[in-house]
Amino acid sequence: MKDSTNEAKKTLVADTSALFNASDFPAHFDIVVPPGVVEELRRWGMDRRLDMLLASRIEVRIPLNGSLEKARKASEATGDIGRLSDTDISVVALAIELEAPAITDDYSIQNVIKSLGGKFLTMEKIGIRDVFTWEFRCSGCGKLFKEKIDECDVCGHRLRSWRARKK
Ligand SMILES: [Zn+2]
Repeated sequence: MKDSTNEAKKTLVADTSALFNASDFPAHFDIVVPPGVVEELRRWGMDRRLDMLLASRIEVRIPLNGSLEKARKASEATGDIGRLSDTDISVVALAIELEAPAITDDYSIQNVIKSLGGKFLTMEKIGIRDVFTWEFRCSGCGKLFKEKIDECDVCGHRLRSWRARKK
């Protein structure tokens, strides 16, 4: 039996970039994230807006081991595993487990979710317009780059697009 309290709102699973970059989420969405997303936000700079968002709108949820295993196997099968962090894997796992779309602009996350028959939404799709200029941030050490290069010159992890900090 379905929980009737979930019917009014739509559940979305968000990745770290989505939370960091979105100025706000439309009110009819419940946002769920794995604990790794909160850790990444802390590491990369938690501001007041994110604090408020976490306190008011975000449910932190640990994916089941079975879901993580499924997500990991699927990312190996698609060849995306090398481009995905443990946090990315847990975003995929939650999306599949909750049968909820993930909000992500990350192509590898999108690809693995698609391979598992899940759904994703891009930021643009749910009406979040990018009001920031873009930089690229290393998914490993967090170093910022002005231009997109293949891998970080410090730690070798891949870069992802990232909102530039306001000067
Ligand atoms: Zn790095």
